Amino acid sequence: LIQLYIPMNFLGVLYREIKQSLADLDKMFGLLEREREVADAAGAAALQVQGATVRFEEVSFAYDPARPILQGLSFEVPAGKTVAVVGASGAGKSTLARLLYRFYDVSGGRITIDGQDIRSVTQDSLRRHIGIVPQDTVLFNDTVAYNIGYGRTGASQAEIEAAAQAARIHDFIVAQPKGYDTVVGERGLKLSGGEKQRVAIARTLLKNPPIMIFDEATSALDSANERAIQGELRSASVGKTTLVIAHRLSTVVDAHEILVMDAGQIVERGAHASLLARGGRYARMWALQNSAENGSDGAAAVPNEG
Ligand code: ADP
Ligand code: MG
Repeated sequence: LIQLYIPMNFLGVLYREIKQSLADLDKMFGLLEREREVADAAGAAALQVQGATVRFEEVSFAYDPARPILQGLSFEVPAGKTVAVVGASGAGKSTLARLLYRFYDVSGGRITIDGQDIRSVTQDSLRRHIGIVPQDTVLFNDTVAYNIGYGRTGASQAEIEAAAQAARIHDFIVAQPKGYDTVVGERGLKLSGGEKQRVAIARTLLKNPPIMIFDEATSALDSANERAIQGELRSASVGKTTLVIAHRLSTVVDAHEILVMDAGQIVERGAHASLLARGGRYARMWALQNSAENGSDGAAAVPNEG
């Protein structure tokens, strides 16, 4: 029985891995498919940004009409403030990020920036004002300088290198024979998940937009790099309207508001201290993380409790 059990277990893991990579591929194509469906409205104006207040008003969304994901979500990220989103994987956190960047249109409700429905403005003007570090970065098949500089057309080499320094990827780049001219991506140098994240962070730091979205932006980094870059992200987001999907709870303590999501809904919300005092789900996640921290390297991730 034991002999049988071990290979079966191994196959189970393998099966889950294959299923997951198929799901990722699916997601990618789903995204491309949808991106073509998101179109500028006739006579769309350019987004006008003052303080960049972001509002989700009764937002509902489904990738597939048969399976609702978000169900009537409302929250505001006041101008220049940070709102954090935490919750189990599959809760719908990344979906919020994708909707704000308008990879997809909402199925119900609306998202506004300084009072303008994001469906009423040009995609180009919307995306010029938002920097996003997605959970899984896909790089262009182009040089690393291009991939970073893409954040801001016309950036100088010095500006690109400063952003790369802040994102702690400069040393890695200059260690390559072609330095900043190294071609990366599918047909170039393959970067690790952590290296890709750092390129995306450099791009966003360089872009320096009024609205920033960090979707588990440092989840693939080792804890030393993560701590250093978290510091950079924190200072970059001062005075910026920031939506941070948190991987480690230590990064959300100062947030204006923390949204705890589960199955497409906000199940708890408030500032860190009031959520702790409440003794609910957030307090349990916090306690779990702290006990894991004491037992490991001091940088436990958000537990995926249901
Ligand atoms: P989280 O970021 O909280 O882990 P996501 O927002 O990525 O969650 O996903 C929420 C739900 O939507 C999950 O059930 C996920 O399987 C589903 N989902 C995500 N992306 C797609 C997609 N492109 N097509 C269909 N379903 C998706
Ligand atoms: Mg996610």
